[in-house]
Amino acid sequence: MKRITVFCGSSDGSEYIYKAQAALLGKTLATREIELVYGGAKIGLMGAVADAVLQYGGKVTGVLPYFLSGKEVAHEGLTELILVDTMHERKALMHDLCDGIIALPGGYGTMEELFEMLTWGQLGLHNKPIGLLNINGYYDGLIELIQGMADKGFLKKADQKMLLTNDNIDKLLANMSGYIAPPTNKWITEEEM
Ligand code: AMP
Repeated sequence: MKRITVFCGSSDGSEYIYKAQAALLGKTLATREIELVYGGAKIGLMGAVADAVLQYGGKVTGVLPYFLSGKEVAHEGLTELILVDTMHERKALMHDLCDGIIALPGGYGTMEELFEMLTWGQLGLHNKPIGLLNINGYYDGLIELIQGMADKGFLKKADQKMLLTNDNIDKLLANMSGYIAPPTNKWITEEEM
């Protein structure tokens, strides 16, 4: 993987560990010469991951819609900041530019971005690995919900496995490097239930 897109909160979260792990992810990416693609803001976990990549000599591409460049406060020190017209363009470009996706803790925006990448993967529109960094159990509830979707016949087991989860950055990256996308057939047959 040469470039990873990170989706994460535009807030810091209530516990310091979220920001610390975002910074550790940034440091790890820079050390491994993996470039960061992200939403282009300098606030919250978004700013923390970008700052750490830059601090350790890595490259960062931010993708920000014009209308958010005030609200989310564009990061001015990035290797490249690409301003786009819409949220849809932002997400499509962030997807196009990367070889893999990681979600850190975040709110609605992060969820929306993560699930769009999962649904595109499920439909076979991409084969990129998608990792969820489950910092301090932040995503335990979501993982349980997804397990319920699979158990209750709304999600194929193969597609459930598309979301790689770990609480350790090195292990998550290793799992992502070895990822092979499942064959595409989103619709669940009776035998698969
Ligand atoms: P949040 O997790 O809510 O703090 O948001 C994280 C990022 O997701 C921010 O850069 C938001 O601008 C972005 N975001 C919010 N809503 C959407 C959306 N509908 N589509 C794509 N990105 C979004």
